[in-house]
Amino acid sequence: MIRKFLAAFAALVASTAVLAQDYPNRTITVVVPFSAGGPTDTVTRLVAQSMTKTLGQTVIVENVAGAGGTIGPKKVAASKPDGYTLVLMHIGISTSVSLYRNLGYNPQTDLEPIGLVTDVPMTFIARKDFPPKDMKELIAYVKANKDKVTYANAGVGAASHLCGMLLMTAIQADLTTVPYKGTGPAMTDLIGGQVDFMCDQTTNTTPQIRGGKVKAYSVTTKSRIKTFPDLPTVQESGIKDFQVGIWHGMWAPKGTPKPVIDKLAAALQAALKDPAVISKFADLGTEPVPQDQATPAALAKHLKAEVEKWAPIIKKAGVYAD
Ligand code: ASP
Repeated sequence: MIRKFLAAFAALVASTAVLAQDYPNRTITVVVPFSAGGPTDTVTRLVAQSMTKTLGQTVIVENVAGAGGTIGPKKVAASKPDGYTLVLMHIGISTSVSLYRNLGYNPQTDLEPIGLVTDVPMTFIARKDFPPKDMKELIAYVKANKDKVTYANAGVGAASHLCGMLLMTAIQADLTTVPYKGTGPAMTDLIGGQVDFMCDQTTNTTPQIRGGKVKAYSVTTKSRIKTFPDLPTVQESGIKDFQVGIWHGMWAPKGTPKPVIDKLAAALQAALKDPAVISKFADLGTEPVPQDQATPAALAKHLKAEVEKWAPIIKKAGVYAD
């Protein structure tokens, strides 16, 4: 019995070693949990293009959108742990643990961290002809017109949802939210005037703000950002302690062999040093994380801290989804 077990174990170790040595020998898919054309999609495509160069195999993006970005990671958690199916998700992976009653997977135990990617500021923006002129006016207007104003987001668990939830809690106004499968399509409707305002990453809003297609009110970071030095922070507009940045990470299914994870982390680190990625990130108001953060250990530690940080805040806001 013991001999049989040892033989099976040895075979498993040998096949894992072969898999790792040979890896990658075909296309790798990175799942984006939102629609194409949005901020998560943009970041992932830039990183995937660069990882393709390092890994010598094509890294493609698959959009598995829906349920505030929770369907994509759940699908990857249930995929074969062979390094050919990955997911790139943001802060929502930590908030969804508290927001969803039945999330269906656990990001800390069902996924294998590869590394952090970037931290992106958010901006409050509105359709061009939305009446408020600045963030203070926006807050007053929203409070006075609670039933009429519409807030676009990418569903419960999205970064745009989190930002809106923090605003609603701070100003004690319950807004009418309009959920999309990503802020790419939400942006199209905002520009078209079908919804009033939203809060979204600079990786989606920068070209639209620069092109004068939307009205910009504020940034969600502690200090003003280089990309929009004239845009005040939300805190400057009077909401104390309002601060949120959207960190992103990359994961594989739990059980992916360590040598494969190490290859992926090295390719991620190379992507984040790639001048093409750095310059495109800069154009979109962000930058790669330092190299020592693009590691499995740093992402595991960060995810744990974020799950613990957001749980009481979400509980206090009283927001839940099934
Ligand atoms: N990142 C966006 C959000 O969480 C969604 C998207 O990438 O489309 O709101």
